[in-house]
Amino acid sequence: MIKTSQLKELARRHGTPLFVVDHEALRGNFHAFRRCLPRVQPYYAVKANPDPEIVRTLYRIGSSFDVASIAEFNLVYENIRALPADERQNFIWDKIIYSNPIKDRRTLEELDCYRPLVVYDNAEEIGKIRRHAPNAGLALRIRVPNTGSMVELSSKFGAAPGEAVDLMSRAADAGLVVEGLAFHVGSQCTNFENYVQALGTSAGIMEEAEARGLELKLLDIGGGFPARYDRHVRPFRELAKILGAEIRRLFPKDLEVIAEPGRYMVGTTATVVAEVIGKSDRDGKRCYYINDGIYHTFSGILFDHCQYHLKAFKRGPARISAVFGPTCDALDTVSQAEDLPELDLGDLVYSENIGAYSHASSTWFNGFPPAKVVHINVQPL
Ligand SMILES: *Cc1c(COP(=O)(O)O)cnc(C)c1O
Repeated sequence: MIKTSQLKELARRHGTPLFVVDHEALRGNFHAFRRCLPRVQPYYAVKANPDPEIVRTLYRIGSSFDVASIAEFNLVYENIRALPADERQNFIWDKIIYSNPIKDRRTLEELDCYRPLVVYDNAEEIGKIRRHAPNAGLALRIRVPNTGSMVELSSKFGAAPGEAVDLMSRAADAGLVVEGLAFHVGSQCTNFENYVQALGTSAGIMEEAEARGLELKLLDIGGGFPARYDRHVRPFRELAKILGAEIRRLFPKDLEVIAEPGRYMVGTTATVVAEVIGKSDRDGKRCYYINDGIYHTFSGILFDHCQYHLKAFKRGPARISAVFGPTCDALDTVSQAEDLPELDLGDLVYSENIGAYSHASSTWFNGFPPAKVVHINVQPL
């Protein structure tokens, strides 16, 4: 946790809004993942926060990457490509998975020379990959329960388990290499049962695939690992224990198991500091206007269904206050009810655990730029 004195000092030096990323916390999350789930290689889901500095820190300590657009692929590739040329294919598969089940033709054409590992979930995609990226390796994304996850994904992606083996056979018949299965239980998945069911379903499909002569080498258990936004979220090690036991029970020892943690890796690594730029009372309620909002670092309130809480550096008796962002849109509401002390123009507020799906989806709406980013503890202490 970044000290409040350090946040204040950084805000004084750099101005606000300021997005502070703590790389010590980032390394801590990565190492905890490895320690709790030694069998599973993490492929950091870049979309959660695509800052190149984050990519480089994770690469240095052994992470692989999950990308879902050609821009994300190039971003990772350019930041990690200290590789011997002859190891390129292994390197790409070991280091990058392209996990978006839907890829346009141009993306496939551009990816093909890397012999990438890509995910698909429908028959139409097989034809596309065969024509435009015949050198790719494939993982089939299956639909699994997303019950209770903060962000639901199963309505958009995943082949029905009953069609899975057929879709893999069809890809193999088309001359493509089918490497394995992938799933995603939905983001911020605090219902661990989703993982248990998904692993069970995967094991069943793998058995059936083997009986049909398909040799699968890879299982991708996706993302969804919950960030510890508050004490109600059970710690990762409890989930890891369940996952480790189920993986051991259900799959052969030589199956390669990977995961795509996004939120878990970066959610708790960043804090945003903003400034009170306006103040009024509306219908008896105190309203503060700050210089960051829904179109910017707090975009996750809208896109990620994630409520962030604001804290003040100032002490004093708290009252329920509304907090609005700087733009002219009423949608730009950070909160209708925050417990805040009496604040004055120029006072600072901050919000913790805002590292995932926040700055990544910040816009320039209304001419207000995204928050400035500073990285601290980039080198190990
Ligand atoms: C978004 C996404 C992730 C990351 O999910 P988190 O819940 O942030 O861990 C991983 N894999 C895929 C395919 C995704 O779309």
